[in-house]
Amino acid sequence: MNNIKYVCSNCNHTTKLSESYPRCPICNEPLNVEYIKEGSINKEHKFAEPFWIRYKDFYPYINKNFNTSLGEGFTPLVKLNQVENVMNLKNVLVKNETQNPTWSFKDRGSVIGVMHALSQGFSRIGTVSTGNMAASVAAYGAKAGLDTTILVKEDMAQEKLNPIAIYGPKVFQVKGDYAKLYDKSLDIGQKKNIAFINSDVPMRVEGSKSIAYEICEQLQFNVPDFVIVPTSAGGNFR
Ligand SMILES: [Zn+2]
Repeated sequence: MNNIKYVCSNCNHTTKLSESYPRCPICNEPLNVEYIKEGSINKEHKFAEPFWIRYKDFYPYINKNFNTSLGEGFTPLVKLNQVENVMNLKNVLVKNETQNPTWSFKDRGSVIGVMHALSQGFSRIGTVSTGNMAASVAAYGAKAGLDTTILVKEDMAQEKLNPIAIYGPKVFQVKGDYAKLYDKSLDIGQKKNIAFINSDVPMRVEGSKSIAYEICEQLQFNVPDFVIVPTSAGGNFR
């Protein structure tokens, strides 16, 4: 399973997981980790183990020596009786991702992103974010003892900065076009040897996929008819 590769989401060009730049070298579109179709779990294990151990067949590239878990994942699947009554629906459930360590699903991607950065020898990580991804990367950077750089918008409110700053990263408020900053951060990362764990980098998406495995397992492997996912930048869909 060590021959897993990155596959370009646009042109299907493949690159090695050891490549540090998270975009396709041919067309500069985002990469995905190669799709792993089959795997098994040890059902006798309890949910107390990290998701990347429980679903290890789907995370064959993870090096356990770089365990930086803060206890993310295995969030409750809560039945919404009131919504079921009002909408006249059966079995409406919500995956309560606010119970992750920094209160959002971003922690799933941050733990995988940080572990991969460590396995590649990075001592510096970063992200570009207007909100909960910044706090998440800062928390996991602190846990791993990494030099962490967070780029935020110039006009970000102090109330949003405080939950990031509490973890002690270098926070830069940046003037100008936020979308350009996102792309520019990848170039900065190449030049300054910083692993930017942004919303669409493949290892962050790899962490997010654990939500699907958990939902299946929590439903005794009865796959739900529909899953509604908040969109935002779309990284959680991939
Ligand atoms: Zn490509």
